[in-house]
Amino acid sequence: MEINLVSDTVTKPTPEMLEYMFKAEVGDDVYKQDPSINALQRMVANVFGMEDALFFPSGTMANQTAIKLHTQPGDQLIADKYAHVFNFEGGGVSFNSGVSCKLLEGDRGMITAAQVESAINNPEFYHSPKTSLVCVENTTNMGGGACYDLNELKKIRQVCDNHNLKFHLDGARLWNALVAKRENPKEYGQTFHTISVCLSKGLGAPVGSLLVSDAATIERALRIRKILGGGMRQAGYLAAGGIYALQHHVGRLAEDHRRAKELAQILAQLPFIRKVEPVETNILIFEIDSRIGEQAFIEKLKQKNIHISGLGQGKLRIVTHLDYREVMHSYVVEALQKLTF
Ligand SMILES: *Cc1c(COP(=O)(O)O)cnc(C)c1O
Repeated sequence: MEINLVSDTVTKPTPEMLEYMFKAEVGDDVYKQDPSINALQRMVANVFGMEDALFFPSGTMANQTAIKLHTQPGDQLIADKYAHVFNFEGGGVSFNSGVSCKLLEGDRGMITAAQVESAINNPEFYHSPKTSLVCVENTTNMGGGACYDLNELKKIRQVCDNHNLKFHLDGARLWNALVAKRENPKEYGQTFHTISVCLSKGLGAPVGSLLVSDAATIERALRIRKILGGGMRQAGYLAAGGIYALQHHVGRLAEDHRRAKELAQILAQLPFIRKVEPVETNILIFEIDSRIGEQAFIEKLKQKNIHISGLGQGKLRIVTHLDYREVMHSYVVEALQKLTF
């Protein structure tokens, strides 16, 4: 039994999901004639109470499209220093949109309305880049799956409105936040100009993300997706995996959260673990004693067929997901409890 806790992207479609995908009705989505894609887009737009949604092959492309939608070359966006759009999208912010980032020192990847307010460049001071967009992540990836306070997000939106900025949510793990905090997705629809959500993290679909917004913005997004090479043909097979995931795999995210919390409690009791960051969802970040080191810890678990990842500087990460079942969890719990160095 190999247990992969490196990421929530390692899941494979369940037999039921695969069966549903096989039966999907498909057409040419570049002609907007794929019934499964159209159904998924309608479904996700409705979840957030927004007008329209567009299917993308990846979350990166959905985010990059949003940034392109809301900026002009030379502009600046505001984000936390851990932001995926800045750190893990290959420099696409500058490559695709010619935009720079003002990075803020947030709390576990989360920034405040006051921080945003003070990071906006004076639009009359033409020497500085024009601030046009604020991007936040919920849950935060490098912040350890932390969830925003919805009220703070609403305050940031107010700041955006006061300064004529757009507000984008990188919601790759928004489903986790919605479940953990029992929030209404429609509140998110009212708070953001655009939202990207992922089907292949946590929900267990093999491929796909969506960008959600108003109809006019999605119309413009369609052209940008085409330019980026994201127009796909009979992609309804993939969309069907997403539909199945949304119908069956959202509520169960609570199990992932429980297991991550249980692992955190065990790690916190081990003498060679220096610090365990608070766990709100399915990501668990902890620090190992420098005398042991990251690599030795990873190796030791690997010998027990448990795979986790290092983040550098003594930090390690565990991510729970759909394919991490209760039997595996019991095994990992026991393995961690017996761990010695
Ligand atoms: C994974 C991730 C993305 C990008 O998704 P891909 O589908 O891998 O391109 C964007 N934002 C966050 C926070 C992520 O964790």
